[in-house]
Amino acid sequence: MIVLKFGGTSVGRPERLKKVAELVLATPGKKIVVLSALSGTTNALVSIGDNLMAGNIDKAESEIASLEKHYHAYIKDLFTGEASHAIGEEIVSRYFILMRLLAAGQFDDKSYRELLAQGELISTELFYQYLQERKISSRLLPALHFMSIDENEEPELEKISGRLKPLVDSMNTIEILITQGYICRNHRNEIDNLKRGGSDYTASLIGAAVHAEEVQIWTDIDGMHNNDPRIVKKTFPISQLTFDEASELAYFGAKILHPSTIVPAQKYNIPVRLKNTMDEKAPGTLITEKGTQGSFKAIAAKDNITAIKIKSSRMLMAYGFLRRVFEVFEHHKTPIDMIATSEVAVSLTIDNQAHLPSIETELKKFGSIEVDKDQTIICIVGNRIMDKEGVLTEIFKSLASIPVRMVSCGGSANNVSVLIDKQYKEKALNALNEGLFALK
Ligand code: ADP
Ligand code: ASP
Ligand code: MG
Repeated sequence: MIVLKFGGTSVGRPERLKKVAELVLATPGKKIVVLSALSGTTNALVSIGDNLMAGNIDKAESEIASLEKHYHAYIKDLFTGEASHAIGEEIVSRYFILMRLLAAGQFDDKSYRELLAQGELISTELFYQYLQERKISSRLLPALHFMSIDENEEPELEKISGRLKPLVDSMNTIEILITQGYICRNHRNEIDNLKRGGSDYTASLIGAAVHAEEVQIWTDIDGMHNNDPRIVKKTFPISQLTFDEASELAYFGAKILHPSTIVPAQKYNIPVRLKNTMDEKAPGTLITEKGTQGSFKAIAAKDNITAIKIKSSRMLMAYGFLRRVFEVFEHHKTPIDMIATSEVAVSLTIDNQAHLPSIETELKKFGSIEVDKDQTIICIVGNRIMDKEGVLTEIFKSLASIPVRMVSCGGSANNVSVLIDKQYKEKALNALNEGLFALK
């Protein structure tokens, strides 16, 4: 079994969806195809949801209408025959009736999440119908029947596997199974999601649940690049990464992968391959356990980081202080990314700011607090780079003209992270590209 995931741009236009069908057909054996919503759809649904929450009903209605128009135009070019086109019309109308019903009701968090799920539900049904028109045998596998998260929003891999395996077995004569990325049920059995970009995570969770041979993430670029191509002009694709390297890059901002994608694949040692839908001949990136000690592999950046410094004379010579600090974050379910300590202060960073005000109040019990928002973590990754001599010299030579707020290294042998003010991000990424990869 191979899992193939196609992202928003890969399904964003009718001709692209047709290409997806060709790529799926060209893959031998059984496969589970995971689709995202058409590009732009989830953003549009977020905006509709925000407007409904804010009581801007007219604005939300006009956004729903323009999204519906987009889908009617899409199916015009997707289907050839009149009968299939009529089915396409019926599918689109059905989803938009549901969206309008959601909008007209008591719009709360629950309906918001249900609204967000419609993008993946439509894209998969349209793809299934397109394969039907082409007389290609396939089945829809509703993600809401097997994908679930617990009360801490963590995927329940064992339960997912327990539900998915019999479903897949019951369809063992069918080579192509299609399912929705991103969406799931939560511990209250309501519709929920795996956070933005979550279709990658769906694919690797499914891969782990059915012990797939490989998970393929098809997107709009030829694999993981050595630096963020949205910010740095000259970047190149990396042919091989270890799970650890890829995991750090995804977690620290390489948007090509949802931050948690690698975790389930690594657990079951399932290779993850990143491929380009627009250029299937490009080798892409293969992510496996294997790696050789090398030099710098890639750089990623994670924005919207808040740095918190806690200064306390009570920390001097005291044990148990860090535990009490960490408990505050644990209590608020807020993960810490970087940490640096001195004898009288501890600095740490978080990216989830939902509970920042209460965290600040609780930390003030320990001493004085300084909070800096709009920080960026720059993460430099390479298999066992920390074992090499001169690594830090090279990094800091590149960053010579940039104020560095915090440094973290030695936590893992594969990564060095630095915290800078967001205003220096572009400069830092370019300087490191030049200093570490000789690319200008
Ligand atoms: P999809 O819709 O297929 O999930 P995404 O937009 O989520 O695609 O991810 C692909 C994008 O990730 C690329 O177009 C690229 O701009 C961005 N990206 C950021 N960092 C990297 C990187 N290091 N390597 C490759 N792509 C990256
Ligand atoms: N459609 C969702 C999003 O835009 C999930 C995904 O594309 O991976 O975030
Ligand atoms: Mg994505």
